Amino acid sequence: MSEEKRHDGRKPNDLRPIEIKLGVNKNADGSCLLTWGKNVVLATVHGPKQMFPKHLSNPSKAVIDYKYRMACISTPERKSPVPGKRDKEISLVSGNALESAIMVEQFPNTVIEINTLIFTADAGTRVAALTAASLAAADAGLPMKGLISSVAGGRSNKQLVLDLDKQEEDAPDAVDLACAMLMPQKEIALLQMDGFVDIKETKEILKNTVKGIETVYDMQKKALIEKYPLEGEINE
Ligand code: ADP
Repeated sequence: MSEEKRHDGRKPNDLRPIEIKLGVNKNADGSCLLTWGKNVVLATVHGPKQMFPKHLSNPSKAVIDYKYRMACISTPERKSPVPGKRDKEISLVSGNALESAIMVEQFPNTVIEINTLIFTADAGTRVAALTAASLAAADAGLPMKGLISSVAGGRSNKQLVLDLDKQEEDAPDAVDLACAMLMPQKEIALLQMDGFVDIKETKEILKNTVKGIETVYDMQKKALIEKYPLEGEINE
């Protein structure tokens, strides 16, 4: 792989700087404000609470109601506040990913509302939102099998790179593979890809992405341990 520096000075497998703040929204049971490069996302968790209307509830587990939304001000051109197909699809697959981490069977007939709002978008927003949402769920004290950690990897301008920003994602040969894993079990919880790529490059991108996920997981653990130093152990 070529080791050319990227337009922002990063090496091919460098992530953008990530900052995590927990418990930032007093109205929620759990929350996380995450900045990831130029992406800014707030994730909140409300619940488990009784589901209305009742017929939508599930007698064997909590329903995860995950919403991914981009604020009107999140992109250079004002974005419509009406959720489109993309927002709905991202919400669905991200909710399914988080469901694999939360012990939903402990809360039958309830709903856990997870809202993620992108204030500023610079590509990689779905993985930033999911990483923040998982932390917000932990901040809410929900029993969890692990954390969902998520990163996108891919190709831009003939180079395999981790964590593409918008400029890189707009390259004509861009490939963007978003992956989320249940950690530390390392089980894939979400996998989506845009672009055309052969098997050999796909394997390499996936390998780089998994390394990035491990780094994100370490950052998530550090943020939780800093906020909750005496409150039990996080699986290694
Ligand atoms: P992700 O942000 O997860 O990489 P996409 O690949 O769909 O998701 O989008 C890449 C980037 O394109 C977003 O982060 C955002 O900057 C921009 N974008 C996506 N959807 C819109 C939209 N509806 N209006 C304007 N910009 C958008």
